Amino acid sequence: MKFIEEEGHRALALPPGPEAGVMQLFGLRGPRPLEILARHFGIRESGIVSVRQVHGDSICVVGASGDEDRSGPGSVSSFRDRACDALVTNRKGLAITVRTADCLPILIWDEGQKVVAAVHAGWRGSLKAIASKTVLTMRASFGSRPADFRVGIGPAIGPCCYEVDGPVLEPLRAEFDYWKDVVQETGGGKGMLDLAGLNLRQLIASGVPADRVSVAGLCTFCHADRFYSYRRDGHSAGGMINGIMICDGP
Ligand SMILES: [Zn+2]
Repeated sequence: MKFIEEEGHRALALPPGPEAGVMQLFGLRGPRPLEILARHFGIRESGIVSVRQVHGDSICVVGASGDEDRSGPGSVSSFRDRACDALVTNRKGLAITVRTADCLPILIWDEGQKVVAAVHAGWRGSLKAIASKTVLTMRASFGSRPADFRVGIGPAIGPCCYEVDGPVLEPLRAEFDYWKDVVQETGGGKGMLDLAGLNLRQLIASGVPADRVSVAGLCTFCHADRFYSYRRDGHSAGGMINGIMICDGP
């Protein structure tokens, strides 16, 4: 991944890029994030699909490619008010996005079936295994094989700064036998959670080869110059827009 910061273009670009038929970016803090994403991807803002994120495990599959009426059922605009935390599509030229400010963005590119996914994984969604469920949805809806995936795990609050307590740790211990790998216990029933590590393990357990996952390894709380952080900035925090889109290959 590499930072792009030129003339208002601020983002973290993830390989592979347009030469492989996909465009994908993790956003940085700054004004007009949708406009910037649209400019990067060479599309209109109307081609950006966003949803109402609710820290759940519902996944929206955005309809197959075609030039259908965009105001009809299954259209782009009909997703704006949908409550879900992951999007999947095989439709070209449509940027599916998730908004984050400490929560983890995950972008998935299925090179085999030409399908993309964008996942918003905070602690609630991670405990509900939204990353694993997104892989299952891609398999069921498009015949995707996790061995063909390339996955980007973006910036999120890191284990350096993310102290959690019982309501997070108790279900984590109950649900994930590898919980000790992703929590550094600090006493008093608290621990430092590695949100990216938890999701990485879920993806590997779902069949994604570890060497096909790129991890940004950047903490949103530590790097105030580049990222918003809900825990650091509170309700005044903005959000980074992270998106992925299938495009014409070479
Ligand atoms: Zn940190």
